[in-house]
Parts: sequence; C-alpha cells; structure tokens
Amino acid sequence: MMDWNEPRNRFALQAVRLAADLAADIQGEMVSEALTKDDRSPVTVADFAAQAVIGCLLDQNYPGELLVGEEQSDVLRSPEERHTLEQVAGFVKRVIPGVTPEEVCDFIDRGVDEPGREYWTLDPIDGTKGFLRQAQYATALAYVENGEVQLGVLGCPNLSLDLRESKPGEGSLLIARRGSGSWIGRLADVDQPERFTRLQVSTRTDPEDARLLRSFESAHTNTDLIDAFQRELGGKADPVRMDSQTKYALLASGEGEIYLRLLSPDRMDYKEKIWDQAAGSVIVEEAGGIVTDLDGKRLDFSRGRTLRGNRGICASNGKFHDLALNALRAVKA
Ligand code: AMP
Ligand code: MG
Repeated sequence: MMDWNEPRNRFALQAVRLAADLAADIQGEMVSEALTKDDRSPVTVADFAAQAVIGCLLDQNYPGELLVGEEQSDVLRSPEERHTLEQVAGFVKRVIPGVTPEEVCDFIDRGVDEPGREYWTLDPIDGTKGFLRQAQYATALAYVENGEVQLGVLGCPNLSLDLRESKPGEGSLLIARRGSGSWIGRLADVDQPERFTRLQVSTRTDPEDARLLRSFESAHTNTDLIDAFQRELGGKADPVRMDSQTKYALLASGEGEIYLRLLSPDRMDYKEKIWDQAAGSVIVEEAGGIVTDLDGKRLDFSRGRTLRGNRGICASNGKFHDLALNALRAVKA
C-alpha cells in the first residue's frame, strides 16, 4: 500500500499539483486559437513558471538535494527577455506571494544539477506541442536512487480519471512508489488520498487486441517502423496518438498494451532525456507493466541527463513484452 504520509510522497504530490494547476491556468489564459504557428511564448512562460514553483518548494523542503530539471534561466535573464521574465514572475507569484523576478531565475536554476547517487528530476511541461494544441501534457517529477526510479508523480491537467480528455479543473494526478503500487486521483483531491485508486495494466494477451500507443508528433518517432510493427504483430486497432508521458498513464491504467518510442529517421542522433521517462516508467512498472530499451534491458537513470546509449523504449503490460521486442527485431532486420 502507498504510505500517503511519507514526506517525499507528500512533497512530490503537492509540488506537482501546484505546478500543474499553474500550467493549466497559463494554458487557459494564454493559449488561444489566434496564436501564430510559431508563437511559443505561452509554453515558454508555463515551462519556466512550473519549474520555478517546484525549485522553490524543493529549496524549502529539501535544500541541498539535487534537481535535474529541463529548464535553465540564462535566456530569461537577458534584457531582451525582461518582459517574458515579468510574465513568468507574475504567474509564479500566485503560488509564491512576493517572489521577485531574480528569485524566480534562481529557483529555475535549482534544476541545473547533474544526476548523483540520489536526485530529483523534473520536466515542468512534458509535451509542449500538446500544451499548445490544447491537448495532453504533463508535469513530471521523479526521485531516483542508484540509477533506479523510486518515486514518480505525473500531473495531467487535461486527462480525466477515466483517461479521456478532461474538462478544465478535472485533471489527474498519478503517483507510483517502488513497492507501493501506482495510484490515480484528481489533481483537486491531492489532500484526499482515500479517493485515489490503484492502477493495474491491461490483462489482454491476444496480439489482435493489442492497442499501441505512440507520440502524437510524427517527428518524435518512426511511423513507418510502427506501421510495420503493427502488421507484424497482427494488431487490428489503430495506434493511439498522444503527447507526453500521459501515454504511460494510459498504459498503467489498462487503456493500451504497448508503447513504443523509436528514433525518428530524421533525428537518429536524438537522446532521450531522463526527465521524459523517469516518472512515467515507474508508474507503468508499479502497475504491473514492463519498461525496457529495445534489447529488453531496464532503463538506467545513472548515466547523466540523457539515457546514454539508448536507441528506443518499449513499454508494455508485460504480457506482450517479449512478443513486442521480437516483432521489432523482425521488422528492423
Ligand atoms: P512525445 O509527446 O511522447 O513525443 O514526447 C514529448 C517529448 O519528446 C518532449 O519532451 C520532447 O523533448 C521530446 N522530443 C523532442 N524531439 C524529439 C525527437 N526527435 N524524438 C523523440 N523525442 C523528442
Ligand atoms: Mg519533455
């Protein structure tokens, strides 16, 4: 069972809840259909604001502990970006009253650490493209010890408890602690853990019924290989395209059977970042699933800010794992 009073569990849930709610406010107030295609300012503001909030809370609760975060404040500190910094600080003040722009930059820079034997890792807004499309995104925080994720929390403002697109204010919060299972509740119910329910991966075993999960963005994966994999497996359902680590949430909840992350043919040099996989992977494992690289090895979070040497990820409900790895080998050969 989950120990809801354990300090790190409580801290991670509260921190992610505050950051994800703030991100949702920023999406609601800044993302509009009038946004030009390459206007990335709302996601920039949300990314920095969410990391500043969690950096500040970490400073208050666990000063001195390492944080490996996606963002750094150097661009924000330049005179040309003063307006953006003021906007970011304006939002962060809603959570941390009286904070100054300079303090906001310092809180963001809590995240510049390299991984150590124990560290936190944060993606303030995972799925920035989804954020801008008013689709799925997540705030992802994890705690890693000796290269293994021990605790993962995902805040998913646009995902309802039944794993569908949510109405504003009905987003979800997921937590997994190694040995204590994976759990889901409403972001709004962070103080009522008795309302959280335990997650279990799907029990499907027939490849025909296997539902595949993949990136919404075709440029983030290899769609030809995914199509070939699907044919090899004999799966009948169209792959579910979704942004961010919410795909791990679906897999952990039994709303999909196999999730593949493959290198895009245009970006064969792409390296997976640890904050993009840490929280989601422990949530799947603690729900009974398996997460490995394409050789069937567990992911190693001890080797730097990226999963060094990694060439892709296969996550499944467990029942399909060997089948999926073999099917991938067959179509890559
Ligand atoms: P997803 O929505 O699953 O595609 O994952 C979103 C994450 O993919 C973001 O955190 C991006 O940093 C990351 N990403 C960016 N470019 C690529 C790429 N070429 N291949 C794979 N992932 C990428
Ligand atoms: Mg990300």
